[in-house]
Amino acid sequence: MNAPAPDLPMTVPAEGLPARVRVHEVGARDGLQNEKAVVPAPVKAEFIRRLAGTGLTTIEATSFVRPEWVPQLADAEELFPAVADLPVDLPVLVPNARGLERALALGARRVAVFASATESFAKANLNRTVDESLAMFEPVVARAKEADGGHVRGYLSMCFGDPWEGAVPVGQVVRVCRALLDMGCDELSLGDTIGVATPGHVSALLTALDGAGVPVDRIGVHFHDTYGQALSNTLTALRHGVSTVDASAGGLGGCPFAKSATGNLATEDLVWMLRGLGIDTGIDLGRLVATSVWMAAHLGRPSPSRTVRALSHQES
Ligand code: MG
Repeated sequence: MNAPAPDLPMTVPAEGLPARVRVHEVGARDGLQNEKAVVPAPVKAEFIRRLAGTGLTTIEATSFVRPEWVPQLADAEELFPAVADLPVDLPVLVPNARGLERALALGARRVAVFASATESFAKANLNRTVDESLAMFEPVVARAKEADGGHVRGYLSMCFGDPWEGAVPVGQVVRVCRALLDMGCDELSLGDTIGVATPGHVSALLTALDGAGVPVDRIGVHFHDTYGQALSNTLTALRHGVSTVDASAGGLGGCPFAKSATGNLATEDLVWMLRGLGIDTGIDLGRLVATSVWMAAHLGRPSPSRTVRALSHQES
């Protein structure tokens, strides 16, 4: 007989960490975009409502990419108005000027562009060089910022490693980060797209960004758990003063370019660690687990999150 698992960790604070962390929830966009199953818009809307009910304050809702490119998110026009009344921030991804106009027309004011730190991924994902893609984003960011309440997040992929190029030089990442801030991005999200970062590498990049004058309060981190490093990398980033962390409820989604199926850091695993450290997130872990169990049932498979499995007593 197994002993019952505790529902919450003991809280034992550690020195040198932020008092509060804002979780940028990406399950409905990054998560579902990378799931095989196409989830109907009303189920997605219910998912986002339930996520908002857990205390999450930033829930990335969808992407205004061309529907034929990402069939999983082809229903952005149906989904966004169905959740727009929620009292949370609902950023949306906009790949280009056309996507931005679609988002603005529905009243979206918080948007995200998706840049690459490497030439190979810029070519594969955007069919442009890094500099050509930055030139494409510049008017998109400017136009988004013109709107009342306009806020732009700049995602940066492949910050630590690239499947074609291998290790990515820190200076290369810093250059693209500076370019995104200089064109008007309010916030950056440093993506470890293939999950190869380890804590020393995270520390080196954050030290270099600090040296280049990038304020730490404009940096978010987006780690993937492909090699089991996401929480170690997150803790390292927190020690550098980062207080915005991307995570995906239930560990939804992955990266189609990684060999392993595991991808996004699960929000529950993150919240468990933060709660143990006494760091406030405002998130109700029990409600979040229940939401991910509900979503996993729609997807027809168990959640890959360790914390969801432990707290929902799922057999693995
Ligand atoms: Mg991701």
